[in-house]
Amino acid sequence: MSTSRSDMPNAVDACYSGDPALLAAAEACRRIDAMVAPIADTESVSIKQALGRVLAIDVEAPMDVPGHTNSAVDGYAINGADLPHAESKRFSVIGTAMAGAPFSSPVGRDQCVRIMTGAAMPPGTDTVVMQENVTLEAADARITTGHNVGQNVRMAGEDLKRGARMLRAGRRLMPSDLGLLASVGIERASVIRRPRVSFFSTGDELRSLGEPIADGQIYDSNRYTLHGMLERLGVTITDLGVVADRRDAVRDALTHAARSCDLVITSGGVSTGDADHVKQVLSEIGQIGFWRIAIRPGRPLAFGRIHDALFFGLPGNPVAVMVTFYQFVQPALRAIEGETNPAPTPLLEARCVQALRKKAGRIEYYRAIVYRNEHGALEVCPTGKTGSGLLHTMSDANCFIVLNEDSESIPAGVTVPVQPFYGLV
Ligand code: AMP
Ligand code: MG
Repeated sequence: MSTSRSDMPNAVDACYSGDPALLAAAEACRRIDAMVAPIADTESVSIKQALGRVLAIDVEAPMDVPGHTNSAVDGYAINGADLPHAESKRFSVIGTAMAGAPFSSPVGRDQCVRIMTGAAMPPGTDTVVMQENVTLEAADARITTGHNVGQNVRMAGEDLKRGARMLRAGRRLMPSDLGLLASVGIERASVIRRPRVSFFSTGDELRSLGEPIADGQIYDSNRYTLHGMLERLGVTITDLGVVADRRDAVRDALTHAARSCDLVITSGGVSTGDADHVKQVLSEIGQIGFWRIAIRPGRPLAFGRIHDALFFGLPGNPVAVMVTFYQFVQPALRAIEGETNPAPTPLLEARCVQALRKKAGRIEYYRAIVYRNEHGALEVCPTGKTGSGLLHTMSDANCFIVLNEDSESIPAGVTVPVQPFYGLV
């Protein structure tokens, strides 16, 4: 869909500047995949320490879960063949089965056992009638009609079958996985070593927190944003501070950083200005995979390898840092850690309440807020200006609107793909 600028007085402007020499984002992802070398080192951690870690080996269930066929409700266990059909019937209550305290004598015809949720089914029983459907008459239980053989019973091995593969190598462990491992008695997990990530900022104008700023200087915010994004991924972080806009300083810092880690990230200095040395240094001491891609924000993004470390030279602008981190660095880090099934970021579809300016040829990420309108339908509204230096637009947003290469400007009311920032688990 194409709409001219004059049709959209309030359109959000994406500041397109066309350049056919830019690498398509999908091709950039392929090059990243091709250069990633997954970490081979593993370690054994207790399952309490294993949340978010990537499993190094397949795990088979060493036992059935549940280990015994048991009741799903509080009620009375009987043999289903005895269920009353025409009218209600009395059963004599011959004992009680509690969770952890089974009733192990055989149960005969017209007999039943008082049973609690989770208690093993007594021998000779296969059906539980909920206590709400039972009236007690002295030592007997009167059971109504309308029940089914086998009801309210959980079969042994229904959750996990002994010998079945319960978790695969390459899985990033979630809270449910920790419980699953515990449910079969496994105390430790073999996981991939955490990736080691070093990063620094480049820029003579940058000052670190605690330093005074003079005219023309700014506080370095990218290192703090990066720290937060990396911390979420559970990697081992080394913050190397601010490096001056001198070729030798950038070279020394990159050489040092690459020696001891799996991934080096820098921000700033990747364009073609007089103070931009990152790409040149990368070509001298490592290999360049690409350095300009067709996305906005984030067009100057250097990628390559320095010795054994992967390298991302992110742009300097704070929003571009975040966009390129989430779209490229985060998937690369997951691959480095050997995650085989990185959950694809869920894309929602929502009706965009504002026009968006765009030209074909690059992917664009607009910061936006997705919400349900009064009719329950998903709508999305951009957070305002699109300048890639406006970090507050990221804090205001809860999602990206993603318009792909083919897409051109859209008027208000069009349904667009949305990438939410947060998920439930
Ligand atoms: P550069 O790519 O180095 O030209 O930087 C682009 C813009 O981002 C400039 O306005 C820089 O001042 C700004 N910038 C670069 N690095 C940082 C940083 N670490 N924190 C905040 N802003 C930055
Ligand atoms: Mg700079």
